[in-house]
Amino acid sequence: MRDFAVPALPTRVAFGSGRLASLRDELTNTGLGPAVLLCTASGRELAHRVAAELPEATVGVFDQARMHVPRATVEAARKAAASLGAEACIAVGGGSAVGLAKALALEAALPYMAVPTTYSGSEMTAVWGITEAREKTTGRDERVRPRAVVYDPDLTASLSAGVSVTSGVNAIAHAAEALYAPDRSPLTDLMAREAVRAMTAALPGVAERPDAPGARSSALYAAWLCGTCLGMTTMSLHHKLCHVLGGALDLPHAPTHAVLLPHVLAFNLTAAPEARELLAQALDDDDPPAHLWRLNQTLGVPASLRELGADRADLATANVQTLAVPYPNPRPVDRNDLDRLLSAAFAGDAPPGLSCRA
Ligand code: NAD
Repeated sequence: MRDFAVPALPTRVAFGSGRLASLRDELTNTGLGPAVLLCTASGRELAHRVAAELPEATVGVFDQARMHVPRATVEAARKAAASLGAEACIAVGGGSAVGLAKALALEAALPYMAVPTTYSGSEMTAVWGITEAREKTTGRDERVRPRAVVYDPDLTASLSAGVSVTSGVNAIAHAAEALYAPDRSPLTDLMAREAVRAMTAALPGVAERPDAPGARSSALYAAWLCGTCLGMTTMSLHHKLCHVLGGALDLPHAPTHAVLLPHVLAFNLTAAPEARELLAQALDDDDPPAHLWRLNQTLGVPASLRELGADRADLATANVQTLAVPYPNPRPVDRNDLDRLLSAAFAGDAPPGLSCRA
């Protein structure tokens, strides 16, 4: 047994179909004052539904949350919260809504609750990010954790199949990198393995029938575990690349994760045999990168960075930015390695060594 240290799990989590009904009790228990709901423009309807159920606890809806938390959005939300007399926030939606709540927790001392409706897992981490002048600044601060999280799979039924599957693969990336993180522990190994098993089992069902409650419930359960792994460990090359491509090049967050994951794992797992073995157990397949590559194809996930809007010339920028402030990684990585990896991901080629057309 290796030495390990495990941080306490800091966030109260309530999970279950219909659990939204307990939001009032959760708000009372956490002692939050009048709250403004934060959501994206397309999450407006759901946020208003939540507000209508809690008229005494909410003061309005701010519906301009956007991916990667632009600085201008933070300022607009801060002003809206002040003019509404909000003393707290409720983030309803995915990582964009939660990311805005984190920024307000950090910069305006507004505590919040999270009602996640995607699988991206931000609600389980102390990591915040704000984008300004095409550069995303991120940091870790315990003040940005929500006071409580209410996971209600019913709220994910309206998430399109396309967003669901990329968000689900985004979640798998958290668990996969947790398996070779420098601060992994037996607990994160257990959670990550179970998370990968549950998410990969659930996603085909979600893709086929996005309103099927069983698969939705399993996927959200897996998302909680994946997010918890993300919150308890230090991420590596895969997450660094996704931050760079999202922040500097404005590529969509979850699809970028989905495209890159088989490529980064094919590169990294050669230097992380324990992670490879645990992933192989979770997937019941002794070639995890090939398995995930085929899963992407089955799920209809975009195959290339080019499809996501990247320009060939952007890859050099991404290469430089990734290596300028590298994350810890199980395998040393240099400019040529990254060039090969990004070129294959850009073109939608299979990662080297994989013969895995579906
Ligand atoms: P998102 O929050 O942008 O949501 C994607 C789309 O789905 C949006 O248009 C949203 O309105 C819509 N949507 C969400 N829930 C819905 C529902 N139930 N029904 C219908 N539509 C719905 O996407 P995301 O992938 O969850 O989050 C991405 C953001 O989260 C990025 O900015 C990323 O950097 C951040 N993130 C941060 C962390 C962290 O730990 N700090 C972790 C993961 C992701």
